[in-house]
Amino acid sequence: MNFDWNYLFSLALYPDFWRATALVAWLGVLTWVIGTVLGFLLALARQSSLRPVRWFAKTYIWLFRSLPLLVLLIFVYNLPQFMPALGPVLSVPFWAGLIALVVSETAYLAEIHRAGLIAVDPGQHEAAHALGVRPVGKYRHIILPQAVRVALPSLGNEFITIVKLTSLVSVISLAEILLVGQRLYTRNFMVLETLVAVSFYYVLVVSVFTFFLSRLEGRLDISRMTGAEIAIPAANAPIGATSNQRRIGEEIVVELAHVDKSFGDKRALADVSLKVRKGEVLSIIGPSGSGKTTLIRTINALQDIDKGRITLDGNDWITADAKGYRMVPDFHDRVTCLGMVFQSFNLFPHMTALQNVTFGPRYHGNRDRQAVRAVAMSHLARVGLAAHANKYPHQLSGGQKQRVAIARALAMDPEIMLFDEPTSALDPELVGEVLQVIEGLASEGMTMVIVTHEMRFVSRISNRVVMMENGYVVVDMTAEELEKSPADSRIQKFMRQS
Ligand code: ADP
Ligand code: MG
Repeated sequence: MNFDWNYLFSLALYPDFWRATALVAWLGVLTWVIGTVLGFLLALARQSSLRPVRWFAKTYIWLFRSLPLLVLLIFVYNLPQFMPALGPVLSVPFWAGLIALVVSETAYLAEIHRAGLIAVDPGQHEAAHALGVRPVGKYRHIILPQAVRVALPSLGNEFITIVKLTSLVSVISLAEILLVGQRLYTRNFMVLETLVAVSFYYVLVVSVFTFFLSRLEGRLDISRMTGAEIAIPAANAPIGATSNQRRIGEEIVVELAHVDKSFGDKRALADVSLKVRKGEVLSIIGPSGSGKTTLIRTINALQDIDKGRITLDGNDWITADAKGYRMVPDFHDRVTCLGMVFQSFNLFPHMTALQNVTFGPRYHGNRDRQAVRAVAMSHLARVGLAAHANKYPHQLSGGQKQRVAIARALAMDPEIMLFDEPTSALDPELVGEVLQVIEGLASEGMTMVIVTHEMRFVSRISNRVVMMENGYVVVDMTAEELEKSPADSRIQKFMRQS
């Protein structure tokens, strides 16, 4: 028996095949889109802090990844036997097929999304929190755009799997590509020729989709996003050019009273009480693991506490007692008065420097694009980066990234700036530029709490120094007291070692 090329070529124009191809493409795309959306929600549920929600998601994924699609298809198609009300929908093979495919694929797609969600740096959640972004906004603007970029190649792969799985829908007599082929070769017995045509149509659907997906991947590829430098007239004075305006008032901006926090047996904060006055620059120093980071993170609730009270401008802010841990109800709106700068910058990688800075004000409801942009540009100018406004974080050096992060915090017009080791992730030659910006802020009178190993902060800009050891505040003195303290005192010894 000879291979019948003429018959094969005639199948290229066989209308039933083209109809079936359109059907497979449509069924595949619908399954993929619906499954991708539901899968994302399921992946979020899988990470929920609510145990029943987590349990539901886990069980769903376990069950529908274990069930063969064929079983599910026949099950769904026959469901109207028990529930006649479902008949009008489920006895249509297309809908029954779509529902079975979506139910099954959602479980796989959820796991792909979960991998994407896990890949997003936890610092991104923290930066969003510090900018007062609520969960829905956080996932929409910050986490989802990054997670989807990670997940996209695997999501695309899953589409191909879906297209191939549609061939199973022939068991419930949906006229998809394979069934059209089967109907042909059971009549003419030209099995191989027909199957070559069947393969051609599947490859066609997959190729078209892969083409569009790779274009989408290319467009979303952060490393390929570049912004050019802008020519800026030298008129804008960067931070530090202003005169010394420091005046320390009596007004207390932040107060911690008897704050305690343990991690298991480790007491990270032990009965810590601390007041920060308006205009003050407070440095927190101490050996590694002494609780400095934990302390600063409790102020904006990045870290919960076991016991104690934190007030902001004399008002309730955070309380922890026998009744549990509580933040004020309007926490997300008010947290913006605490500008946070992280050790590892935590810039949003999919946004330009300017977008990083405008994001907070825009999220918090400032609709005047031009005004927000102008203010953001002035903050970037303050940190000496106006020329780099259109660059993405991956195009900036560590010191520049940290200065953008400072501008991002300043854009929320904070009452107090919190810095957690702002220079310790930087190469030594880049420390100076960040130090200069922070010094400039100090001379403008900004209230600041700086956790640091950098003794230049302590000696050059702080009015007060707090030293921690094993969770306790062991020294709390003014800059003058520090200067006069004896050379063999605990703090002087520590400062010499660092
Ligand atoms: P520092 O910033 O002074 O180096 P930290 O505040 O980071 O210290 O940590 C204080 C102590 O609390 C350390 O012993 C650290 O291991 C512990 N700790 C901090 N965060 C956590 C956490 N999330 N889980 C468990 N232990 C933690
Ligand atoms: Mg630390």
